[in-house]
Amino acid sequence: MKIRSVRGTHDLFGDEINKYNSIKNIVSQNAKLNNYLELQTPIFEFTELFSKPLGEHSDVVLKEMYTFKDRSEDLLTLRPEYTTPMIRAAITNNLLNDLPLKIYGLGPMFRRERPQKGRYRQFNQINFEIFGSNDFIADLELISLGNDILKTILPLSDLELNINFLGSRNNLKKYKSTLSKYFKENVSKLSDESKSKIDLNPLRILDSKNDKDIQVSNSSPKITSSLSEEDKNNYEQIKEGLKSNKIHFVENFNLVRGLDYYCGIVFEFKTKNLGSQDTVLGGGRYDGLIKTLGGPDISGIGWAAGVERISMLMNKIENKQNHVHLAITDEKFKKYLIEVTNKLREEKIPYYWDYKYNLKKSLSRASSNNAQYIILIGENEFNNNFVTIKNLSSSEQYEIKSSNITNFLNDQIR
Ligand code: ATP
Ligand code: MG
Repeated sequence: MKIRSVRGTHDLFGDEINKYNSIKNIVSQNAKLNNYLELQTPIFEFTELFSKPLGEHSDVVLKEMYTFKDRSEDLLTLRPEYTTPMIRAAITNNLLNDLPLKIYGLGPMFRRERPQKGRYRQFNQINFEIFGSNDFIADLELISLGNDILKTILPLSDLELNINFLGSRNNLKKYKSTLSKYFKENVSKLSDESKSKIDLNPLRILDSKNDKDIQVSNSSPKITSSLSEEDKNNYEQIKEGLKSNKIHFVENFNLVRGLDYYCGIVFEFKTKNLGSQDTVLGGGRYDGLIKTLGGPDISGIGWAAGVERISMLMNKIENKQNHVHLAITDEKFKKYLIEVTNKLREEKIPYYWDYKYNLKKSLSRASSNNAQYIILIGENEFNNNFVTIKNLSSSEQYEIKSSNITNFLNDQIR
């Protein structure tokens, strides 16, 4: 029986895991630098945490959630996103008494989408959130933090910040009906999928990837034209702030984000190098969501970035380890070998042995493993209580007394 992996899932090893770990390190360094609290939530939650708040007509809720009944008939869902679990956790653990709360996490999300390049059914997300401030400086800080992290990981990428401003919930409601009206007038030019969204979720038509829809959307009424004075002012200040931080951005009036809870500023970092899976990081403000989930009436802002998509834009990472390869020519020297490996372990000198008593095979493995040193144990070495150490890059060779092996290597390696 050969068991396959589940479609849309992937195993991480080699270069992929090196990239994953490097991303994780950079994220946690930046989180520390900016005083964000790390918070990990369970990968499953009660379904109701997602179904209403994300929007009953959003793609995620309609088609993408992994939902199942457990044995006590509770309806559970593998988390498709991190913002609502973060809020749930902040409420559950009384973290909202002392505001603002700045939290972050990194972990797997689950969405039953059609797998393709940059799109998986289990993927990893980085998530940063600020709860309890509606100062535009919070928006600015959070976007800058995303920019810093992406720039550190991908200094040469083409990533470009796209922004839009959705305004208050009321404004958004009004805008949705203006938009529905406009799309109804142009219904014949829309794709079938978008036709079905005109009444329920007209915002989604704006970020459709279908060429016909894009044409119609490009001439649609813009949300920024219906903003209140206060919202306009806020938006201007954010743009000014980005300029003074020297973060290049473009305004993208079709940027609305997929989940229902967004209002205020929305943003995405996009690339031209990943085909249609072009968004690497996306986020925005979500006033009202925390209250909906049973918390206080405070606002929030956050973003999520896809680890796999970042990883696809990274160059190969060489995992160089200064390790020592053992070569032993005969089973007779086992005891001596154990003594040597015990010493290496005690001194934390990384070594590798392939459990083979064959010089040729060991040497070829050492070279394919990129070992720096070889410790050779043969007849002469065994009889006279020494080992031969060869530096593979300089080809120099030394005969080292058994009691002196770790001293010698420590000097060489460090
Ligand atoms: P898309 O438009 O690509 O479907 P989205 O709007 O559904 O993205 P968000 O919910 O904003 O995505 O998630 C934030 C980030 O998580 C995305 O920008 C992307 O980098 C990553 N992401 C989302 N869905 C997937 C997936 N199925 N596989 C891999 N990464 C994903
Ligand atoms: Mg999606």
